[in-house]
Amino acid sequence: MRLSRYFLPTLKENPNEAQIVSHRLMLRTGMIRQSSAGIYTWLPLGLRVLRRIEQIVREEQDAAGCHELLMPTIQPAELWKESGRYDAYGPEMLRILDRHQREMLYGPTNEELITEIFRGTVKSYRQLPKLLYHIQWKFRDEIRPRFGVMRGREFLMKDSYSFDLDQAGAIRAYNTMFVCYLRTFQRMGLTAIPMRAETGPIGGNLSHEFVIVADTGESEIAYHRDFEKIDWIGSDIDFEGDLQPLVDQFTTKYAATDEQRDAAAEAALGEDLVTGRGIEVGHIFYFGTKYSKPLGATVTGPDGEPVAVEMGSYGIGVSRLVAAVIEASHDDAGIIWPDSVAPFAVGLINLKPDDAASSELCERLYTALTAAGHEVLYDDRAERPGVKFSEMDLIGLPQQVIVGPRGAKAGTVELKVRRSGEREELPVEAALARFGA
Ligand code: ATP
Ligand code: MG
Repeated sequence: MRLSRYFLPTLKENPNEAQIVSHRLMLRTGMIRQSSAGIYTWLPLGLRVLRRIEQIVREEQDAAGCHELLMPTIQPAELWKESGRYDAYGPEMLRILDRHQREMLYGPTNEELITEIFRGTVKSYRQLPKLLYHIQWKFRDEIRPRFGVMRGREFLMKDSYSFDLDQAGAIRAYNTMFVCYLRTFQRMGLTAIPMRAETGPIGGNLSHEFVIVADTGESEIAYHRDFEKIDWIGSDIDFEGDLQPLVDQFTTKYAATDEQRDAAAEAALGEDLVTGRGIEVGHIFYFGTKYSKPLGATVTGPDGEPVAVEMGSYGIGVSRLVAAVIEASHDDAGIIWPDSVAPFAVGLINLKPDDAASSELCERLYTALTAAGHEVLYDDRAERPGVKFSEMDLIGLPQQVIVGPRGAKAGTVELKVRRSGEREELPVEAALARFGA
């Protein structure tokens, strides 16, 4: 992508309204633009990151045996009256009347709708288990939308739903999502800590929030240092096998929100205790027959009797994750994208576009890197070098290739790793070889 032709409306100054670093950086790098309170346009650079995060979530859901569908954003109020949540949900739900005065709503979540789909299509226990998900925009009229896309009113969520004949099956589904989530966040370079969450009247230990560690998190947390070993789940998980021992390894380690903290347990941890702040990026929930009973989602069991199916729901804040990754990975100069979610892999800087040798070399590098499968953002604008350096650092692409007249003449380029700041001058061929080009 040539920066001269791209749509990247960066801001020179820090926007006043942004209180946290990710919001500031997303506005400054031209990733998003506010449309109204808590509602944003995703500009091209931001949309690239959103799509990459969405794709990682999708790949990991698919690998865990979850099947993607797409439910609408607008739902009939009637279903929510059946479940009893139409009134219970309160003012966070955006209610709409259509031209025939029918009550509709913009979905804040989809338990009712997926249960309605299930009850109309699945009739026998032989068709179970089922795991379904979609990635769709949600609307919640948050009382205090803030921190940019971190707590928006319109936001992108991945929500999955499991259907099982019995509790043992539902727990298997829960464990599948538990492990799937650890893998998903790990791929984004995040340390996600599963924290026990309130389960309400159902009780038990079957709700976890996945919290990533960042200084600007909304809540205070304390946890065992082991959670920082982000690669301890490995990538060769067999989702058909028994995941309970692996899940237990995580759930038996100390992890507590502010209200759950336990002084004696923390004293026993000693050096292994870490305290910090966290951002909730995912939430998994086993709720039994809470929706299947009122909505009549039953199947014929092995003995011919009707059974209300056991359900769970599993959410990931896809748009919130864009901000969360930035909170977890930035420095004073700007964003530092992990490779897996970076909007472009390489930033190519032409320090003097009016120098023929520099521009020729840049064209050659741009073509070769692109041909080798790298997405390149090529800064070919007629701007001062200082502006180019600082904007490239601000945008935070993992690798930079810097071309100036002196190097172009000598056949060398400079490589810079954004995360470490390491710079190295190399002959053009050696630099290309680094990128497999
Ligand atoms: P919170 O406590 O942050 O309000 P929640 O418990 O209401 O979250 P869930 O209903 O479990 O959230 O939704 C699943 C995920 O969707 C959350 O883990 C979070 O990552 C994301 N999410 C929820 N509300 C918002 C929002 N207003 N803006 C962006 N993402 C959100
Ligand atoms: Mg909420």
